Amino acid sequence: MSQARRRLIAGNWKMNGTGESTAAFMAALHRAIGGGDGPRCEILLCPPATLIAAAADAAAGGSVVIGGQDCHHAAGGAKTGDLAAEMIADAGGGYVIVGHSERRADHGESDAVVRAKAEAAHRAGLIAIVCVGESAAERDAGSTLEVIAGQIAGSIPDGGTALNTVVAYEPVWAIGSGRTPTTAEIAAVHNHIRGGLAGRFADGDGFRILYGGSVKPANAAELLAIADVDGALVGGASLAAEDFFAIIDSCP
Ligand code: PEP
Repeated sequence: MSQARRRLIAGNWKMNGTGESTAAFMAALHRAIGGGDGPRCEILLCPPATLIAAAADAAAGGSVVIGGQDCHHAAGGAKTGDLAAEMIADAGGGYVIVGHSERRADHGESDAVVRAKAEAAHRAGLIAIVCVGESAAERDAGSTLEVIAGQIAGSIPDGGTALNTVVAYEPVWAIGSGRTPTTAEIAAVHNHIRGGLAGRFADGDGFRILYGGSVKPANAAELLAIADVDGALVGGASLAAEDFFAIIDSCP
């Protein structure tokens, strides 16, 4: 792996968490990380919007970075209920997830919308984690690589660099299902994504490509050892500090 590609373990809490649970989680994570030589990888936690500032305060001075789960493409204005990337930065966030399959499905977000959100993240100085992934029907039809290539081309802005953009490959059918592709299937998709990035961006070899979809302590070491898997985006298993730390601790 290139020196620049430090593995990233990112937790996505989705619509879970309270002020109390966040304080307890951050304290437990700090204790776990503090007990060793420090983390071998970068650690990111994306709580719901209401908890970004509190989590960022609790993370200050430590080795955990905080991020948002989504942002609007605009910097401000009459957008009831939305959150600007600048607001995430202002709350202490350093990253934002865009194009998660739950946003694409539940909110009808197209590649063009996801791309605009990634541009907003860059404008605000955030690192965008751009999610892509095929449905079960697309995998069964044998069109996974084509679907992923299209999402990558449509969702990552031309201004993307290895420093401001991370890709997360998350097969939709693997999210929250307990099912994962085989290591060979993951390797094939990550290799394909790497080829596409290297063909389009001067520093495409430096982009980190995360795998997401039912990552848990029991399978993390195997998944993180796959070529071109530069970390993990973790949903359910990021809700308990001990599980999240066990995944962090699985980084090679
Ligand atoms: C996710 O939602 O990004 C995710 C990967 O969820 P889970 O780990 O629960 O499958």
